[in-house]
Amino acid sequence: MSDSKRAVVVGGGLGGLAAACTLAARGHSVTLLEASPWLGGKAAVLNADGFRFDMGPTILTIPNVLRKIFSESGRNLDDYLQLVRLDPQWRCFFQHGSVLDLVENVEAMAKTLDAYAPGSADGYRAFLNLSHRLHRVSDDYFFWKSIGGIRDMIDFKAGFQPKILGDVMSMRMGRSVAGTVRKYIPDARVAQMIDHFTQYVGSSPDASPAVLCGIAHMQTEGGVWYPIGGTRAVPEALVKLGTELGVTYRTGTAVKRLLVRDGATVTGVETVAGETIEADAVVSNADAVRTHRELVNGAASKAVRAFDGRRTYEPACSGVVLYLGLNKAYDHLLHHGFVFSRDPHEEFDFIYRKGEPAPDPTCYLAATTRTEPGTAPPGGEALYVLVHTPYLRPHHDWKRMLPEYRRVILEKLKSTGKMPDLESRIVYESALTPQDIHDRYRVLNGAIYGLASHGKWLGAFKPANRSRDLKNLYLAGGAAHPGPGMPMVLMSGWIAADTLDRDRN
Ligand SMILES: Cc1cc2nc3c(=O)[nH]c(=O)nc-3n(C[C@H](O)[C@H](O)[C@H](O)COP(=O)(O)OP(=O)(O)OC[C@H]3O[C@@H](n4cnc5c(N)ncnc54)[C@H](O)[C@@H]3O)c2cc1C
Repeated sequence: MSDSKRAVVVGGGLGGLAAACTLAARGHSVTLLEASPWLGGKAAVLNADGFRFDMGPTILTIPNVLRKIFSESGRNLDDYLQLVRLDPQWRCFFQHGSVLDLVENVEAMAKTLDAYAPGSADGYRAFLNLSHRLHRVSDDYFFWKSIGGIRDMIDFKAGFQPKILGDVMSMRMGRSVAGTVRKYIPDARVAQMIDHFTQYVGSSPDASPAVLCGIAHMQTEGGVWYPIGGTRAVPEALVKLGTELGVTYRTGTAVKRLLVRDGATVTGVETVAGETIEADAVVSNADAVRTHRELVNGAASKAVRAFDGRRTYEPACSGVVLYLGLNKAYDHLLHHGFVFSRDPHEEFDFIYRKGEPAPDPTCYLAATTRTEPGTAPPGGEALYVLVHTPYLRPHHDWKRMLPEYRRVILEKLKSTGKMPDLESRIVYESALTPQDIHDRYRVLNGAIYGLASHGKWLGAFKPANRSRDLKNLYLAGGAAHPGPGMPMVLMSGWIAADTLDRDRN
């Protein structure tokens, strides 16, 4: 190993773990520093009173990203992780009592829609065709490379090329997800269900660019998967791989600042304990905005001004999670479920514009005993309930707000979710609020999914994985390209590592 291959990774979320494995597989000497006592960041676990809950992410899509990271070192993901494909993917409960299952086969789904909302089937097929194209455009121009804007995606100097022009046109820049969905899908309930793919990136369908309609095809094609052992098994598998490849993991080690020479070149890090660790390159898996504002010495430095000046960075949504241990399993639930709000426009307006919790929210449910009975005592259920909320505002006091909002959530589950006796079935309960998310995971304003994808033209772009402002700094995680959610942050870790490795060679 040459001397120029010492890399430090700041943060052991999924993005940091993926970067560490990829760098180690390419022959770099890697030290990963994580402030918390556990590795995996938001992909954490809660064990209590015989119940086991994934604390953060629960829906795993596009497992091929993980496969690629394992194949970097010639390993097979299946030797590290047992994945179960879930189909139907979601069960959806609507305000007026109807129930609709989202299945992965497009033709089967279209047939179901013919009966559920006559006239929706052809629109659904056409929407999935568009989604397929947008997925392909993302694969061709957006994924697996460090992108910070449209100029990184397309080589305009190469001149006019009809295929590229066609692909750019297909992105429908200037149009929103919600508007595009409704052009194809007239039924309000089906449109509400499809809108919800933008919740994977914590953004409003009304404000997000139409290119995000590609997420629907990513899910129908790649499937929804459950790792046995829970989502927690994903970071565990990555840590096992990294350990085999020689990565040094140091938990309980918070980084205080990046060492920056001449205001321009990163040469290592200094920990909160005062230790200096020199490195040829640093991958920061800490939030990209906080990396610049808090870890670069001197908030007014040229590098920070350049980062902040490039764009206004808006945090994605936050959320409240209730972890409910029940002495009963509700047979009408599937592994993943959505109990939808009465009006998506009202809901998203509260969360994303007014900045207040929605009075009638959508609740996402994970009932894991469907797939892994051991997550609850016999006959019980480890019910995970996630409700998206605005990112933290200065006046949000969640200690005060939680009891009232818990009540709103339980009432919604009792009525629209068809669980009238829910409260009497609770034998264990705990909660995670936006303030907890902010404090536990050191994110921007309690954001679950990094930066919002808002902006009908440029909303999909995040800070590039190779820092434009500081040499030897690379960014991985939900606030860096290509964005949040497990598959994307894993990809961001791979891109940061791949870019670093190419720069060195
Ligand atoms: C409640 C919830 C539900 C979710 N549901 C889903 C879902 O169903 N599907 C899905 O795909 N995604 C979901 N997500 C999003 C997904 O969890 C995240 O996008 C992803 O896990 C974030 O990974 P990351 O690499 O950005 O790192 P993070 O998980 O944010 O970890 C970053 C790590 O860096 C560490 N760190 C920060 N600063 C420092 C420092 N100075 N020194 C040392 N360490 C530092 C932090 O302690 C943290 O461990 C959910 C998230 C939450 C919270």
